[in-house]
Parts: sequence; C-alpha cells; structure tokens
Amino acid sequence: MSQKKSNKFVYAFEEGNRNMKEILGGKGANLAEMKSLGINVPPGFTISTQACKIYNDLGKKITPEMETQIKTNLINLEKKMGKKLGDAKNPLLVSVRSGAAASMPGMMDTILNLGLNDQSVIGLAEKTGNERFAWDSYRRLIQMLGNVVLEIDHDEFEHILESVKESKKAKFDTDLSTEDLKEVVTKYKAMVKKVTKKDFPQDPKVQLDLSIKAVFNSWNNYRAIRYREINNIKGLIGTAVNVQAMVFGNLGEDSGTGVCFTRNPSTGEAKFYGEYLMNAQGEDVVAGIRTPLAVSTLQKSNPKIYKELVAVCNKVEKHYKDMQDMEFTIEKGVLYILQARNGKRTVEAGVKTAVDMVKEKLITKEEAILRIDPNQLNQLLHKQFDQKSLNKAEAIAQGLPASPGAAVGEIVFNASETLSKAEKGLSVILVRTETSPEDIDGMHSAKGILTARGGMTSHAAVVARGMGTCCVAGCPDLIIDEKKKTLTIKSKGLTLKEGDFISLDGSTGKVYAGKIETKEPELSGNFGKLMSWADEYRKIGIRTNADTPKDASTARKFGAEGIGLCRTEHMFFEGPRIKAIREMILSNDIESRKKALAKLLPFQRDDFVGLFHTMEGFPVTVRFLDPPLHEFLPTNEKDIVEISKEMGVSVSVLKNKIEELHEFNPMLGHRGCRLAVTFPEIYEMQTNAVIEAAILVTKKCPICGKKHKVTPEIMIPLVATTKEFSMLRESVIEIVEKKLKEAKIKMAYKVGTMIEVPRATMVADKIVEAGAEFFSFGTNDLTQMGAGISRDDAGKFLKEYVAKGIYENDPFETLDQEGVGELIKIAIKKGRGVKKDLKIGICGEHGGEPKTVEFCHKEGFSYVSCSPFRVPIARLAAAQAAIKNKTKK
Ligand code: PEP
Ligand code: MG
Repeated sequence: MSQKKSNKFVYAFEEGNRNMKEILGGKGANLAEMKSLGINVPPGFTISTQACKIYNDLGKKITPEMETQIKTNLINLEKKMGKKLGDAKNPLLVSVRSGAAASMPGMMDTILNLGLNDQSVIGLAEKTGNERFAWDSYRRLIQMLGNVVLEIDHDEFEHILESVKESKKAKFDTDLSTEDLKEVVTKYKAMVKKVTKKDFPQDPKVQLDLSIKAVFNSWNNYRAIRYREINNIKGLIGTAVNVQAMVFGNLGEDSGTGVCFTRNPSTGEAKFYGEYLMNAQGEDVVAGIRTPLAVSTLQKSNPKIYKELVAVCNKVEKHYKDMQDMEFTIEKGVLYILQARNGKRTVEAGVKTAVDMVKEKLITKEEAILRIDPNQLNQLLHKQFDQKSLNKAEAIAQGLPASPGAAVGEIVFNASETLSKAEKGLSVILVRTETSPEDIDGMHSAKGILTARGGMTSHAAVVARGMGTCCVAGCPDLIIDEKKKTLTIKSKGLTLKEGDFISLDGSTGKVYAGKIETKEPELSGNFGKLMSWADEYRKIGIRTNADTPKDASTARKFGAEGIGLCRTEHMFFEGPRIKAIREMILSNDIESRKKALAKLLPFQRDDFVGLFHTMEGFPVTVRFLDPPLHEFLPTNEKDIVEISKEMGVSVSVLKNKIEELHEFNPMLGHRGCRLAVTFPEIYEMQTNAVIEAAILVTKKCPICGKKHKVTPEIMIPLVATTKEFSMLRESVIEIVEKKLKEAKIKMAYKVGTMIEVPRATMVADKIVEAGAEFFSFGTNDLTQMGAGISRDDAGKFLKEYVAKGIYENDPFETLDQEGVGELIKIAIKKGRGVKKDLKIGICGEHGGEPKTVEFCHKEGFSYVSCSPFRVPIARLAAAQAAIKNKTKK
C-alpha cells in the first residue's frame, strides 16, 4: 500500500495543536493546544497514531526510529522537570495514557506513577516528605501495570488490598498507614512473581516500554473494538500514547483531583459543574469508588483555586466555542490541567448548549445545527413517566440523575445476562455496584442502568449518557449482592431480587419499585428552537410514513409536512376488515369479489377521512395494496380450522386456496400493481374510497365539521413497465373524474408511482410520458432487487458483509449510493428530462437516515418520507445537508 510516510513519530506538547487530532489523538492535540494558550499543563510528549499503526502492522514491534525519538523526548522532559526517570533521589514519574482521534472513554488503558521502583519510592518519599504518599503511589503502579500490562486479574490485587484493610480494621484505603502500604506492596510483588513467574519490572525504561506497547495493544482489545462498532467509529489507524509528567492530587489535604464541565453535561445548564476529591488520584474520581464532592464546595474550601479553575474553564470554552470537559489536579496548592476536550453530554444538554451559545453569540445558527448528530435526537424522543402514574408512586431510593429518560424493566445483576435477556426482547435494568468497561454489551442492551456507587462522571454515567440510556448512578442506600442476586434498600429494609420490576427516572435520579406507565415526549423548548432553525435552512420537504391518524398526528407534532407513504394493506388487518379481505381472496368470481370489496370500502373511506382530517390540508400519498394476497390468510392448522368455521367454507377448500396462492418467491411474485392487473376491482375500490373521503372532508369533515383542502396523491406500487402504470392510471382517473363530476367539485389530485423495480428506473422517462406526476423511490425494494438481496433473509449474512467492509453500511439502513443511488440518479435524470418539475420523494426506510437525506438533498429531491419518530432526525439532517453543501460551493 502506498501511504504517505512521516518519519516523525513523537511530538512534544509544544509541537502540536488542536488540528492534529488524526496524528496526536484528541487528548494529545488538546494538551498541545492548551499549552499554546498558556494553561498550566504538566509537560509531556505524544507518540503518534501512525506509530501505533506501524507497531500493529509489524506484529507488535516498536521500530528503532521510534525508540530513538521516544528517548530524545524523554531526555527533554527530564530536563524540563529537573528530574530523571528512575532516579533514586529525585525520580520523575510519568503517566502513560491512550488517546485516539475519536473519544473512547474508558475503553483503552492508562498507567499512572510510572517510574517507581524499590529505590525511587524511597527517593520520592524523601523528596516530597511524604512517605505514605510514595508507597501509596508505588502500590497503585504495581496494581495498574500489573493489571494492564502484565494482564493479572484486577481481583488478585483487590483481594490483597481488602485483606490488609481487614486485618488493620481500615474502612477506606486512606485509613491505611505507611507500614500497611509497604505490606501491600510486598504482597503485590509476591503475587506478581507467583502469577507471571517474573519479578515486577524494576527498570523504569522497561516499565515505559511495556506500557507504551500495552496502550498500543489496547487499541485492539474487545471493549475498544465493540465501542467503535457501537459508535460507528471508522477509519482510524490507532491510538496515540501520551507520556506526561505526573502531578499529584494525593500529596495531602492541600492536594486534590477532579473533573469539571464548563456546563452541566446532563442538562446543559450554563453553570460551571464538576466534582473532585481531596487527597486523591484521578482514577478515584472516575472509577466512582469514593463519592466525590461538588466542585462548587471548592469555592468555600479553596477560593483561590476555585477562581483560577473558573477562569481557565472560561478561557478554554471561549477558545473551543464548545462545552469542555476538563481534568484537573491540585498539587500542594498549584492547579494543573491534565486534559480538556469537548464534553460528552446528553443530547438534551447538547441541544441546550448549542441554542444558548447562539444566544451568547459564541457560535452561529449554522454551527449550532451542524453540532448535533441527527441520529442522537432519538434520545430526546425518549419516553417520560406519565405524571399521573408517577404521582401515585413512591420512590424507594434516590441516586444521581446521570442520564435522562424513563426506564422500566426487570432487574438483572450482570452484563452478559442483560444482553441475553434483551436479545429475547425483555426490558432489563442492569443493576451494579459500579460498572466497568467490560460491561459495555450489557449497558448497551439495557433499558436503564442503576449503580450504587459513583458520581456524575463515573463510568456508568459517562457511558450511559453517550448511549442515551437512562441511568441513575451513585445510590448509596443500595446494597447490591451480585452473587445472591439481590438488591437491598437499607433505609427501607426492602430487598428486591433478580426478575423483579423497577422503574428509573434518569432525570431526577429516583428509583421506584414496580412498573410506572410511560408516555411519549414532546417537542418543545430548545429542541423546538433548534428544529425551527433547521427548517430555515433545509431545502427539501419532510413527510412521514403513516397508516393511522395516531401515527400521522405524532408525525405532525414532530414537524411532518405530509404523508409520503400510507401503506393501505396495514388497514386491512383488524377485526371485520380481515374477514372481508379473506372473503375477497376466497371468491371464485368477480361478482363475489366485488361484494367482498364493497364491505371493505366504508372502512377504507373512514381511514382516509381520518388521515385527511389529521393532516389538515397537507398532501397525503396513498399507496395501493402491495403485498401478495397469501399474507392475509392463516398459516397454522388451528387458525385454518377457526377461519373455515367463521367463513363457512370447508377446511379443505381453505387449504386448497392457501396452496394455490403459495409462491416460491412471493416478493417477486403476485404483488403490487400485478395484483391490480389481474384483479382491477381491488384498486377500483381503493380509488373510490380515497376520492369519496377527499370529497367528504372538502365539503365538511365528518370528524371536525371543518372544510379541509385535500391533495390526495395516489401511488401505484411495484411498477416495472410503462404499460402497467398507464393502464392502472387510466382506471384511477376515470373513477376520480366521475366522482368529482358527480360531487360538482374541483380538486387537485395526483397519480404517480413508486420506483422500486430496477427496470422502472430505466424507463422512468416513459413512465412520466405516460402521465406519472410524481415518483417516490421505494428504496427497500429497490435495494432488494437492485442488489439482489432478499430483505427478509439478509439478516443472516449482511452483518458479516458490513464487518468485512464489503458494504460500508447495511444497505437496507443507509442507501448504497454507489449502486442503488446510481439507479436513482438515472431515474431522476430521465423523469425530469420529460417533466422538469416532477415531484420526487423517497419512502423506503432510508428516508430518515442522515447520510441518505444528504444524498436526497444533493440530487434535488422534493421531499423525504420516514417513520414519525425519525421526522426530527430528517429535518435536522436536511438542514445540515443544505448548510454543508452551501459552504462547499
Ligand atoms: C419500499 O419498497 O421501499 C417501500 C417503501 O415499500 P414497502 O416497504 O412497503 O415494500
Ligand atoms: Mg416496496
């Protein structure tokens, strides 16, 4: 492979900037940028992502060139700090941290306190005058390096620590004395030797080398790979490694460490927000082992540092024009910033921040629109608890509102069980003392997450917010026994077991026993504002796929400007309708078929009245019957017997009919317009129903009494040839004209076609010449037939196709622009070649997928149509497409 090679693999922080994320990773690039802003960042250097790629490509080898550059940078760092790595008197300690171009919190590895050994620990104790701190740092190094680099199970260390604590009657780690910690170190080292058959590495250069390799290796660990898959992070070559001089938050009560956000990451409130612990190291805050204090309390306890921290936050936020998430350490009263990055936030907070920042004139409306990932809007459409139902419920526990939403499900205590239950379609709440990165699959499949420990920045909270999963964290009143599978609420003396239902309110942090009813969310406030801005910019219309007034009304609330697809077959399944359609199917002659269809007509007419009423003048596209008829007949013996009785036909007659209708390839068989070619009376009935309903609501809506302007658009499915379309169009027009004449009414209506058979794309010009007034691309079938992949069977192999990169995305989710997209382009060119203003839409599942929406924008579609809950996503994606393509020109 030809790849542009750079021989520079290591960059001092002074050499980088924020634009070098691809090479330095997000963390490295931001550390460099902060350095250039004059912020007090401990010095260090970054080993590039390219080095990681080469290391992995070479089968885990660090090249001599890299080695030399690491060495040179280490020497420079030692000079800057006036300390030496491994020095027995004045040792330099460093942290080694991963950092890829995209943020992957907690997914890769970190080693702290590197450089300590049996000698330098004494030097550190003397130099800092704090022997306890030195030994605590050493035991932490053995634990982290032992776990991450030497791959010793975390529990091995925990057992030793717990047993020493128990023997000393120490409640917290901080209760251990220097001598106790020395004992822990001795025991740790003995255990390392026992497990690995080698001594804990004493040479700091070896520690560094092993740690750099471990971070490079962690790029390909299971949880990192899964995180990238889940978050669709593609195209990155590896992680960078940041080697940075350590500063210590655990040097005593004038030291501490914390994380802060320039705004609240859960709500977006423009208020400095964070948590910290005095006399602690960073992992104590993030791991959620001790529950931290709110950063606002620092204002009282240490006003000087608080003021300084607020000033830095303001400076960094103004510089990046986005909410920042920062890690800080106070070492003996001096404030250091260890990291700043755009803060992970709930979408709610993201939307509020974007809207507020426009008001604050920090960013433009365009920037605000581009800042929100349309797919994430899903999270704003989260369910909430029904207030009435909530008022009746009594909370059994209170935790932190870590990630908003309402979740109801059965309790499960481990991640793998959560995954397997969720795969069976059960709603599960994952309940843990604290979560760890290994829990990723379970967290992803849970409806909600509840933890006993941890703050707003604990692993559970950060990951849940990123996923948009409801989470209540840090609920100290809970005792979770993961072995016995019980959850006890201490203050209530209440014990719940696995399988019991609980409800979580991620917006208030309250936990309830049992199930509380949920309701759909509303589109208002900042979300509404952002959406209204999106509407100012977007060029294409947004319609919805809806078959019922309820769906149509939901879609209208979300901003749909019409129905782009009403699948009429969905209207045939309820009670008396299914009977009538079965009667029609079982008819042996046209007369009895017409009689059965006449029974269906009033139902259909009422359905359309309902839709026209709900859409209040917005266009409604009615797609005529599409699926093969056998779908309406029973398949199992019990139903066959029951239905034969109901219909007064013998079981054998019914079975014969089912046999007769059997097709080897129903999706390519007798369906769509082919049904109407052989049974024209079906579409005739549907035409009558549409136009009668339209006339009714035009004169006086039977539901509200108002007069609605109606624009029915009749759409013929599965057209492949011009003749199919022209024949059916003629029949539709004949009926419509007759009815309009009888009603003495003039009405704009349209007859158009779905373009979902590849052949139709090739004769699109002729179909327009035959009178088609609109095209709607049925990209589900067009993908099925264009790529030759069965929509119903693709699940078996498509995942692997995507994993192996044969298709970049599932072509049934994201339009395959290279293939199916080309067919669409041909059809548009041909169609618009005949009729310049031909209305063009899309109504396959792709219509609400952001990349496809951008394609539709570029190709001059009139509208996209998608399911009601994707309408806001499509609105935002359409605005982003318009803004991006405007700036490109
Ligand atoms: C399509 O094929 O894209 C379409 C919208 O129709 P259906 O999914 O009903 O086949
Ligand atoms: Mg179709």
